[in-house]
Amino acid sequence: MSEPEFFRQCTTCKKPIAFGANYLQCSVSTCNRNKLAQFFCTLACWDAHLPEARHRDAWAEPMQAPTLEAFRREQQEEEDREARSTARERAMSDETDKRRRIVGSTTAEDLPQDVLVVVSKLKAYVKARSGMNTSDAVVEVLSAKMRKLCDAAIEVAHADGRKTLLDRDFK
Ligand SMILES: [Zn+2]
Ligand SMILES: [Zn+2]
Repeated sequence: MSEPEFFRQCTTCKKPIAFGANYLQCSVSTCNRNKLAQFFCTLACWDAHLPEARHRDAWAEPMQAPTLEAFRREQQEEEDREARSTARERAMSDETDKRRRIVGSTTAEDLPQDVLVVVSKLKAYVKARSGMNTSDAVVEVLSAKMRKLCDAAIEVAHADGRKTLLDRDFK
């Protein structure tokens, strides 16, 4: 893999955002989805994406790009994690299939206990917000909380006779 020269390019003006530089992120989650994530070098560039995005409520969140070293480390970690979770998912789904054939339903223990948050984004948020670092154990706790929230919402959707989880199930 070739050496990245900068962290990201500004979504609007395409100027490079250097490692360690300050940049802005949109507060709306759809603007930060994995491969489609948007990065802005200035408030003006963030403003420029608004007409097309048509958010109801949005603000720009100040972020700091990781250093090249941290970036490489994170990429490596993410690759490792992906490789691990793919292997685990495969093992899990084999396991679940087997059990499903036997008992016909999935119990909570059968389910993968994967990390459900984007670790780098979470850390970047905490850092930007407070200057604090985030311990790796935090992502486990948050993932467990998200699973709990989803379980409760699933019950609401189920009681409603739906097969789709809606945002209102979380209210
Ligand atoms: Zn820009
Ligand atoms: Zn946006």
